[in-house]
Amino acid sequence: MLTDLRSLNFKGRKALVRCDFNVPLENGAIADPGRIDASLETIRYILEKGGAAVLCSHLGRPKDRDLKYTLKPVAEYLSSKLGIKVALAPDCIGDHTGRLVNALGAGQALLLENLRFHHEEEANDLDFAHELARGKEIYVNDAFGTAHRAHASTAGVTRYLTERAPGFLMMREIEALGALTKNPEHPYIAILGGAKVSDKIGVIRNLMTKVDAFLIGGAMAYTFIRAMGEPTGRSRVEEDKIGLATELLEAARTKGVAFELPSDHVVAESASADAAAQVVTSIPENRIGLDIGPETIKRFIARIQGAKTVVWNGPLGLFEEKPFAHGTMAVGEALADSGAKSVLGGGDTAAAVAEQPWASKFSHISTGGGASLEFLEGIELPGIKALER
Ligand code: AMP
Repeated sequence: MLTDLRSLNFKGRKALVRCDFNVPLENGAIADPGRIDASLETIRYILEKGGAAVLCSHLGRPKDRDLKYTLKPVAEYLSSKLGIKVALAPDCIGDHTGRLVNALGAGQALLLENLRFHHEEEANDLDFAHELARGKEIYVNDAFGTAHRAHASTAGVTRYLTERAPGFLMMREIEALGALTKNPEHPYIAILGGAKVSDKIGVIRNLMTKVDAFLIGGAMAYTFIRAMGEPTGRSRVEEDKIGLATELLEAARTKGVAFELPSDHVVAESASADAAAQVVTSIPENRIGLDIGPETIKRFIARIQGAKTVVWNGPLGLFEEKPFAHGTMAVGEALADSGAKSVLGGGDTAAAVAEQPWASKFSHISTGGGASLEFLEGIELPGIKALER
């Protein structure tokens, strides 16, 4: 059971709030503040209720203290969005930071410096977790993007802060993704794409007993196409996963789950925007499959229009290059317009799709790439488990 954030008393108390401020930086400036914006609701709520918010996050993958990964730009952005001064503590633990935490009053916020300046964070070191908890009374986790990792700030810290709850963003993720595993309305369809079958094996296995159909695109489709004995030219095929692909195709057949693969393809001689693209039904020897073709798009859209629930993870082609983005965008737009409950897994694809004008029509776009995948694999996420009472 998770505690409802709204049932906690924040008045005059200090809350450690684990956020996902792992934003992309370009020349030291925030390139996309989406993740920060997503946590504002929780932070504002705590401040409005008279609490003091001690915010913490990781940023990038620093090896110990490396100021290239300072959260300073995040502190500045937060100050401008919240309309209060959000100071950056010089560290996430230690005496100096402790004094800044102690001095915080009701409605004030402090941002702790990058958690990963200490290797103890990722090691889930309990002494470090204890230090993080010092001086705070409540723990709130709004960082869904790291919920699949048992780190000191997502797992260990809950030993020392027993009053705890998910933030609003975390709660929305749990509800939207949880609804897919509890009792989804049928027909229920999974659209899977992306680079590799090997990344999606767990998801396919777990969803095999839940969905009515899989629609497969992206490079991962070619390993299945090869498993069916059809030509794949120079497309990306995971040779060592062909046996597994055969097993998954067989499992779908036995269970009566439709497993739809592309029947036509956009191919080119090389994976670049200026290579001449061509639509084929059988991939020639010297060509690479880079997107699903028009017939496949039509077939996939027809399936989607008959669905009540759809989960989507991974692009259906090399969507970063315009000539090969059409499949991903056409299917995405049809899904957004379909009226089906639509949940989009996080990661780069979600970020690209989220910029489209129709993206607001999805029921939910997850903020966590790896975390949403593990959720769909049926794995209990340590960052969520640690929040339980
Ligand atoms: P993933 O991280 O597994 O979701 O994979 C995303 C990546 O797969 C993106 O960078 C896509 O460009 C890439 N991708 C999708 N389809 C293809 C394809 N047919 N050939 C090469 N790369 C692809």
